[in-house]
Amino acid sequence: MSTLERMIDLVEDRWPDDQVPEDALGQVLLASHLLGADRAVANFGGGNTSAKGSTTDHAGREVDAIWVKGSGSDLATMGRDDFTPLRLADVLPLFERDEMSDDDMVGHLARCQLDPAAPRSSIETLLHAFVPAAHVHHTHPDAINVLAGTRDGERLVAECFRNEAAWIPYIRPGFTLAKQVGAAVREDPGLRLVVLAKHGLVVWGDSAEEAYGRTIEVINRAAEFVNARTASQPRFGGGLPQANLHDKARRELLLSILPVLRGAVSSERSKILTVDSSPRVEEFVRSRDAAELVTVGAACPDHLVNTKRVPLWVPFDPGSDDAETLAARIPELAQAFRDEYAAYVEDHRDEDTRPADPDARVVLIQHVGLIGVGTSPKEARLSCELYHRAIEVMAGAHALGGFTSLTEGESFAVEYWPLELYKLSLRPPPGELQGKVALVTGAAGGIGGAVVEELAGKGACIVAFDLDGEGAADAVESLGDAGAAAAGDVTQEAAVREAFGRAVLEFGGVDIVVSNAGVASSAPIEETSLEEWERNHSILGTGYFLVARDAFAVLRAQGRGGAIVVVGSKNALAASKNAVAYSTAKAAELHLARCLAEEGGPHGIRVNAVNPDAVLQGSRIWDTSWREERADAYGIDPDELEDYYRGRTVLGVNVLPEDVARAVLHFASEERSGKSTGNILNVDGGVSAAFPR
Ligand SMILES: [Zn+2]
Repeated sequence: MSTLERMIDLVEDRWPDDQVPEDALGQVLLASHLLGADRAVANFGGGNTSAKGSTTDHAGREVDAIWVKGSGSDLATMGRDDFTPLRLADVLPLFERDEMSDDDMVGHLARCQLDPAAPRSSIETLLHAFVPAAHVHHTHPDAINVLAGTRDGERLVAECFRNEAAWIPYIRPGFTLAKQVGAAVREDPGLRLVVLAKHGLVVWGDSAEEAYGRTIEVINRAAEFVNARTASQPRFGGGLPQANLHDKARRELLLSILPVLRGAVSSERSKILTVDSSPRVEEFVRSRDAAELVTVGAACPDHLVNTKRVPLWVPFDPGSDDAETLAARIPELAQAFRDEYAAYVEDHRDEDTRPADPDARVVLIQHVGLIGVGTSPKEARLSCELYHRAIEVMAGAHALGGFTSLTEGESFAVEYWPLELYKLSLRPPPGELQGKVALVTGAAGGIGGAVVEELAGKGACIVAFDLDGEGAADAVESLGDAGAAAAGDVTQEAAVREAFGRAVLEFGGVDIVVSNAGVASSAPIEETSLEEWERNHSILGTGYFLVARDAFAVLRAQGRGGAIVVVGSKNALAASKNAVAYSTAKAAELHLARCLAEEGGPHGIRVNAVNPDAVLQGSRIWDTSWREERADAYGIDPDELEDYYRGRTVLGVNVLPEDVARAVLHFASEERSGKSTGNILNVDGGVSAAFPR
């Protein structure tokens, strides 16, 4: 069988030949990392591992213990501290019980923890404890879930694994599932694996290496079986006849529809979008059967809180539809999705249910790609990542005779399960600007850098735009996937468009635009060259116009308001000698902001200005001849400027970049200034001549 004809890929045994830790906990940690290293074996945040052995408790007694991966960590990156050690002698007697509620189980396990500071033990702790083996691995591998998620799964598992496998019909994790798995393994010494219907795999061994090796072995046996049974079949019924979009056409289409989509899936809070058009995704979204398959349900209960039961499917025919048709279709479909979600919650809720955010977490645009939705890039990518698993499971299960999933009731019971919601509660609380995207011009400078830091610190994703591309990249370097840099000149239409394009393709759009790129020159009027005049007006006038124009285009397409903050200057209000080019351009900026406040109001777009004065620290402007020119204008030495500026303020203080950044945050934040537009906030230590009136 050639690689291309494979329905599902085989996985690799990554166990190393040397450098294996000596202790059991070290070995299970290694196995966990190896399982998580291939997401076709263990999806992000999913699956768990355990080891049994002896240890010394807090009183110095030798006790039998079980270490189980705790709630909230990921196999690929977990550390030793993410395992929860429990006293086995306190856990094992539970096997004799007939039933146990989730609350009782959680309460009991909390009392069995050898270390109260360890993470809360996993929902699946009892499953690990009841299987009588030193090492137990539970995962949700693609190839096993193909069988577990096929209508005729039980028969197929029996054909593939004969009497080596036990099949457990679907039941939500908890005491009963743990007892069923434990009983199956205890009753049949010949058993090598347990397949949990519509859920995943359990294997065990005397060592971490054995359990890991068996996990890989049974996954590959399942994959070979599926591939042999489906050898003649295309995935998802084959491709539709329409031609694929070229990369350039797809990019153009995404640039125009992503802001629309972002607005459409941000009904209760702002979302970040992540585009995925990898070959596997492309194959799926242009296939004959995708439209039907996406309605079936989740491929694993573990995906539900991050993907919802079903994705938002957007039909698109590249032959007959254009960007405009698609843009008109998206908000209607997003609303229909919310209505259906509300009905699903209504059908299954009880009086304590707090409905989750109703927007789609996974969007599939036919012939275009997959778009992950979340309140952070990490969340958005997680939705994509988990849907990749769903695509692989659907491919095999569909070809084997029919993909099946949890019923609506079963899905709801997992999605709203308090123990599943507990995992979400472990995430850090959302920042004030969580889900927002801010584009900052002049980001490589002192004020720009402080603004980036301030807004990112409140949870915003940042696009740093600067003539100095390296400086822009430095400004967002520490932000990881929450930052992007664009190099370019604010006076060039194409460069500004490119920067906004970056924000759209990277995060789905923009909410906050801080126009801060600066320049300054100082000279008496007769010595001000036309070139200097035009340079000031080009950067501070035209540049701010171009940035505002593209900001409006994206904000209007999203339809959810937004904030534009113009970093002006005291000189925009107060007349000052020997700086006519700079001061008049700054005054134009201020009036631009006021005019745009009028224009943006009906669309919820707020436009405000922050007027700093004499921010010398970290400023690139003050490193230029401007410092000497200003000192000259005041008849003092350049070194005396700080004292001079402090002396002329009402408050007697110097102004720092972070002072300006906090004022920008004020206007950027809906919470702080949602009802303010057309305003000016001076951050100048108090300069009487610039008091607004
Ligand atoms: Zn599981």
